[in-house]
Amino acid sequence: MVDQKTTQHSLKKDKYVNARGGNSHFLDLFCSKCNQHLALYQKDGHGRLLRMYLDRIFEPQEFSFLHSRISDKAGMPNLKCSKCGALIGTPMIYEAERRLAFRLIHGSFVKKKSDGVYPPAQQTHNSHNTEKGGSDEKRN
Ligand SMILES: [Zn+2]
Repeated sequence: MVDQKTTQHSLKKDKYVNARGGNSHFLDLFCSKCNQHLALYQKDGHGRLLRMYLDRIFEPQEFSFLHSRISDKAGMPNLKCSKCGALIGTPMIYEAERRLAFRLIHGSFVKKKSDGVYPPAQQTHNSHNTEKGGSDEKRN
């Protein structure tokens, strides 16, 4: 993973957004067991994240491609962590809108607000650049 390009995604705007009041934002989902990044997702509207619509998953690309390839939930795999294999979600169809989605398993993931950049910039939690040498300017 050297020199990986980052992608800036922009929010989709369509009838589904409007149906939810137009309040859309990006979320990064991580595995709650191993902290592996699971998906970059566009959440429309307020409320808890109970399912992830396939057409709102921007990354990883295997899922964004999936959306264009399949039209039936029989063609959908389970959503699993690519690192530890934990089950995150199972295929479902949201009948009211005929949209494919993953029904998320409560507690299997953690979510964070995202600005739509993939891969997410964090991961490096070890704050090795808070202690830069050469700066003698101290503030409190
Ligand atoms: Zn995991």
